[in-house]
This record gives sequence, C-alpha cells and structure tokens, in this order.
Amino acid sequence: MVIPKKTLRATKPFIPDLVYFEPDALEYPKGRKIMEFVKAKNIEYRMTTSHNRITNLPGETEQEKYRMAKRTLVVGLRKTLKFDQSKPSADYAIPISTGCMGHCHYCYLQTTLGAKPYIRVYVNTEDIFGAAKSYIEERAPEITTFEAACTSDPVGIEHITGSLQDLITFMAGEEFGRLRFVTKFHHVDPLLELKHNNHTRIRFSINADYVIRQFEPATSRFEERIEAAAKIAHAGYPLGFIIAPIIWHDGWEQGYAELLERLSAALPSSAAEGLTFEMIQHRFTKTAKTVIEQRYPKTKLEMDIEKRKQKWGRWGQYKYVYPDEQQTALRQFITERIFEHFPKSSIDYFT
Ligand code: SF4
Repeated sequence: MVIPKKTLRATKPFIPDLVYFEPDALEYPKGRKIMEFVKAKNIEYRMTTSHNRITNLPGETEQEKYRMAKRTLVVGLRKTLKFDQSKPSADYAIPISTGCMGHCHYCYLQTTLGAKPYIRVYVNTEDIFGAAKSYIEERAPEITTFEAACTSDPVGIEHITGSLQDLITFMAGEEFGRLRFVTKFHHVDPLLELKHNNHTRIRFSINADYVIRQFEPATSRFEERIEAAAKIAHAGYPLGFIIAPIIWHDGWEQGYAELLERLSAALPSSAAEGLTFEMIQHRFTKTAKTVIEQRYPKTKLEMDIEKRKQKWGRWGQYKYVYPDEQQTALRQFITERIFEHFPKSSIDYFT
C-alpha cells in the first residue's frame, strides 16, 4: 500500500477580524482601496478618531484582548514624519506600518508597542516617501538605506495595503536611496514583477527548526519562506537572510547546522550569489520577560537573568544577552556553517 505523503497546508494571507478607519484615511486612494477590501471580505469595521486611541477592543481578559488586537487592523495617517534610526541594519526606519499578526514569543514589539499591539497601516504614503526623499537628498551622494520592517512585517499585510509595491517602485527611481525589509511570510507574489532597479534587498528571517516550531506561531513555515526566497532571487532582487533570534538550546549546533544545510539544498544555485546574512542573538529586557510570561504563559523561551550578560540598551533599560563565551561559540559555529554552504556570501553583522 502506498501511504500518501502528508501535504502541509499553505499559510493563508492574513484577514483581520476587525478594522478601524480614521475618517481622514478615506480621503486617500489607499484608504478607499482598503475599505473596498474590507467590504468585499465582509469584515466588521468601525470608525475611530485616532489610530493611537483604540481602547474598546473585544475580549474579557487581557490575554483575549491581546489576541484580538493581533487580528485588528487600524487604517490611519502617519503624522510623525521624523524617521527613527535603524542601526545596524540601515540608516533609517521608514514607517509604512506598525504591528504584526505573528505571535513570535520573543518579538520586541511586545514591549515597544506597549498597549497598542494592533496593526496600524498608513495611507498617506506620498507624505512618507516625500520625507524619505528629504533624508536622501540631505546625505547625497552618500547612499541612504531605509528599513521597512522595524516595527512590523510589511509582507504579511501587503495584500491589503500594496504599500511595499509603492515603496519599492519609489526607491527604484532614487539614485542614492536603498530599501530593505525582512519577513517571516511567503506572500511575495505581488512584488515579483516590479521594477526594483536592485535598490531593494529582501531578507527572510530563518531559524533552527526548534525555534520556528516553538516560538513562531502564525507565520509562514520554513519551506514556504525558502520557496519565496527563491522567487525573490529569480526576480533579480538582492537577497539576504537574518538568523534571528539565535537561541542557545539543547542540540543548537545540530539545529543551526541543519538550517544552513536545508537552506543550501532548497535554494537554487543562482540565488546563492551575493547573499547577505545577519545574525542577532536572543536578548530580552525585564519588562519584556514580564509581558511575554503574561501573554504566552506556557512558553519555553529561556529568560533566566542569572544565565545572561547584562548590556545597556538604547531604550534606556538593561537587556540580557548571552555571556561572551556562548556568544563566541554561536557566532563562530554559525559563521563557519554559512561559509561552508555559501562561500560567496557576506555577513553584515552579529549582534
Ligand atoms: S513576524 Fe516579526 S514582527 Fe511579526 S511577531 Fe514575529 S518577530 Fe514580531
């Protein structure tokens, strides 16, 4: 008897349960387009005075409210056009969305977004691109790079907003501007036909199988991300991978060795040219630990302060990273595996 192979279901594009609109958002074509999407999908929607003040989310407990927030989209205008710095990945963070539907236990948005874990998208993209242009002109002829995934995963909501398509097209025309973003979602098809002029580097977040299975619910599977990476390479985009957060766990050497092996087996050789890797070790703050333990009480994420090294963070709080010996072991081992499988790649940083 032939046993049929188990077919894994594709991760579906995100459909929110509830959408809020700022009235002004409907003055913009993107706002109206999102409203059409919402009506076509029969999604419940409400009007709100400000995307910063969503207080009456359904749910009895804090945990229920949090889960609901992760399924709530708020459509508004970006008022602050001063961009934050985004070291070490880029010069500036370009804000096209805030928040994410993913449920990665370790995600720093748990604390940086505080009481506003819902997903905000901004429809005044022309204003945002105008601000980006000023930053580029200020520094020209030096290249200015923008990171579009500092406060969200923009690929996960691209089918609703189309903002990445606009941004990639805008950056293609900027001689001294470059764009980059990272994703854990595989829904890249709308980006494949765009004229990008090699000005956008798309990176996929990857990790050891244990980390993806334990800590990254509600994101695309590893295989889906790699398939999407191959499509991105085929479309001629500069491609990269972020291994983050690197987590010290039982069998980590095998886990990360297998990750690089699987990546090299799955990625067409044409995609291996000019690859970049970024490595970020797991870190947390005391505030993050408290929030994560409330939101994911059964998490296996190790956050034992006694086992970590204290480091001053730019958010005005200590963060806890691995002690130097563990950091060195992780960095050396993964670096060797990267160059073993991808000798022509480069490593941007380990932090
Ligand atoms: S996909 Fe990225 S932004 Fe979304 S929850 Fe996971 S780590 Fe956070």
